[in-house]
Amino acid sequence: MSEYQHRARKRFGQNFLHDAGVIDRILRAIRAREGERLLEIGPGQGALTEGLLASGAALDVIELDLDLIPILMTRFGDNPRFRLNQGDALKFDFARLEAVPRSLRVVGNLPYNISTPLIFHLLDNAPLIRDMHFMLQKEVVERLAAGPGGGDWGRLSIMVQYHCRVEHLFNVGPGAFNPPPKVDSAIVRLVPHETLPHPAKDHRLLERVVREAFNQRRKTLRNTLRQLLPGEAIEAAGVDGSLRPEQLDLAAFVRLADQLALHLQTARD
Ligand code: SAM
Repeated sequence: MSEYQHRARKRFGQNFLHDAGVIDRILRAIRAREGERLLEIGPGQGALTEGLLASGAALDVIELDLDLIPILMTRFGDNPRFRLNQGDALKFDFARLEAVPRSLRVVGNLPYNISTPLIFHLLDNAPLIRDMHFMLQKEVVERLAAGPGGGDWGRLSIMVQYHCRVEHLFNVGPGAFNPPPKVDSAIVRLVPHETLPHPAKDHRLLERVVREAFNQRRKTLRNTLRQLLPGEAIEAAGVDGSLRPEQLDLAAFVRLADQLALHLQTARD
């Protein structure tokens, strides 16, 4: 094992999986198959990579830490189904993969410091993706899977559920990692919708309404959206302006975004 020794770096969010039982459970949840197209983000020293390749699937990996590249090449470089992309997953151009729509299966024990921007970057490429399996901070998975009405429901839940079905699969304690993180972790499955259940006229306007609404989540919608939408437009969306943002479901936010589209159009004409 000495040839694989590497000191974990905090700035790269490195917590390496070493619990064989947990690794196996993750691989069984993913169930990769021969002929599939996989993309692993942050392979590290290859804890998941090995089992993913053993499935017979073709695997691209993106790793930022230059020191890990020789380790990965020594372990997997001879496998013709393995392709290493060195760089930042946040800047990765998915067009490079030349994947057919809904083919790509994305997996990763993600660096927790960049997990939210990374999920948003992946959502921009949702049409290429069949599903995603991620290890994340448990608290983030709870926000992803939340429903309206509670403190976990917010921008992340709404924008991810706009694009994907979310399943909180299981939790993983700190002892499964080396070094152990300070927080609990969980595995989540995200499956992009084939047809959006609540399509907005313009999803960027949905982003804008949701961001603005949750900027001050304790205030009423009439108050937080004042700069964006007049009270009548909120009513026209069938939304009670005296509610707080966390009381609205995804469909109501989409109606507000569509009212904003109408409002901007009228202001232009
Ligand atoms: N998959 C390995 C495992 O489970 O043991 C490593 C997981 S570790 C939590 C996160 C990995 O992501 C590290 O290997 C780290 O170097 C890599 N990483 C950090 N930031 C990255 C970025 N922006 N793009 C690609 N990889 C990154």
